[in-house]
Amino acid sequence: TEQRAGWRFDNRYARLPELFYVRQEPVRVREPRLVMLNEPLAAELGLDAEALRSPEGVEVLAGNRLPEGAEPLAQAYAGHQFGYFTMLGDGRALLLGEQLTPSGARIDIQLKGSGRTPYSRGGDGRAALGPMLREYIISEAMHALGIPTTRSLAVVKTGMPVIRETVLQGAVLTRTAASHLRVGTFQFAAWRGSRDDLKALADFAIARHMPEAAEDKQPYLALLREVIERQAALIARWMLVGFIHGVMNTDNMTISGETIDYGPCAFMDEYDPLTVFSSIDTHGRYAYGRQPAIGAWNLARLAEALLPLLHEDEEKAVELAEEALGEYAGRYERHWLQGMRAKLGLFGEEEEDEALARDLLELMRKARADYTRTFFDLTLGRPEDTPMHGTREFEDWLARRQRRLARQPQTEAEARRLMMSANPAVIPRNYRVEEALAAAEAGDLSVMERLLAALAAPYDYDADHADYAAVPPKPDRPYRTYCGT
Ligand code: AMP
Ligand code: MG
Ligand code: MG
Repeated sequence: TEQRAGWRFDNRYARLPELFYVRQEPVRVREPRLVMLNEPLAAELGLDAEALRSPEGVEVLAGNRLPEGAEPLAQAYAGHQFGYFTMLGDGRALLLGEQLTPSGARIDIQLKGSGRTPYSRGGDGRAALGPMLREYIISEAMHALGIPTTRSLAVVKTGMPVIRETVLQGAVLTRTAASHLRVGTFQFAAWRGSRDDLKALADFAIARHMPEAAEDKQPYLALLREVIERQAALIARWMLVGFIHGVMNTDNMTISGETIDYGPCAFMDEYDPLTVFSSIDTHGRYAYGRQPAIGAWNLARLAEALLPLLHEDEEKAVELAEEALGEYAGRYERHWLQGMRAKLGLFGEEEEDEALARDLLELMRKARADYTRTFFDLTLGRPEDTPMHGTREFEDWLARRQRRLARQPQTEAEARRLMMSANPAVIPRNYRVEEALAAAEAGDLSVMERLLAALAAPYDYDADHADYAAVPPKPDRPYRTYCGT
């Protein structure tokens, strides 16, 4: 059966110096039951969905049985959590290995919730069903939105309780990623390892994610600059869809440029840069509007870790790092503005574009306009449906935008198509996610299946969006999200 499932591992991370991991088997679970299987993702990985659904396949997804070629290990890393440096590592996850896919990609296969590891500290190494299904929904939504992200292959119930504030059902998520290398992995190497260890990690990251950098005269500077570019692009994409990561600690920022760690994340409804959902982010460090700046802060931590590789002379190394970091803001602004142009239907570039975008956002903030719905209404050519409608300022803004559209050679239909490609009709609304999870926890997966189907085609303006594109009802109390559940 294993052969039939299509597992094909080649584990390069496991060949790194031993300080980067601890070999560890998953802890057995009592009664594994498959809850979700991502068939399109399985196909991309070269895995046979039917074999994964078989009892042996589910045993693998639960961690009760290792597929041939797997070398399970818990990765070591460090991280600044809310600004404070800590030594960490996979406390409830195991890397099974790197799957070689039919298209020639190398993808990490990780079990999350697979039991305690030497890095578990006080934790039980387990995960609850609701949060693992939540990660499944939101990561797959991000993927469909075209945003680089780790993905979710499967969720298995363990048949064992996990104790949080209440007793919950245990679950294991199978997560896939371009890799699980983090800014924090480099911080760990710089703190605990020799220069050779750091170099081994950097060479691994280059080979895995940016082989062109190996040809560069300064490969490690090229590595730093590439991560800066990818994170600038990624965070701009988050901002453009109203995504709030919620826990941008340096251990939750990848080298690959994928979004990782779907704990307290959520999508913003009413536009407000101060929006925070995470129950523990009491100072708003990771508020929506602070994400670009936090990105810069985290990248500075990466640059610090890489200093010994950038130049023999420390002063020179610092100079090079500062120069690279200095490019981040411009890169971010360019990605964001390009995205905003698309959201507004603007081709080409005009000096005025940035003000046009920012002035709209300010009007939206004052009117407490729904972020996603406002751009959806503008795409449909229905500004009268937005809460700004009727104000003099908004009429002026619409006239300015109309003049800008009139100056471009593209037709209105072309502008609308551009907007449709940039303004999702459907995002994972918090109340829709909660209702899907509540039903799933009670054994009814149909609500989640319907939601996933809508989220799989967020830019499809021909679909019937009545259930998912509406402005959500005002919650009785502020929506709250949680870490580590
Ligand atoms: P996070 O806030 O999700 O980035 O997690 C921070 C660290 O805590 C990571 O090293 C996790 O592996 C670890 N962790 C989170 N939940 C648990 C748990 N229930 N048991 C053990 N370790 C955990
Ligand atoms: Mg994490
Ligand atoms: Mg987490």
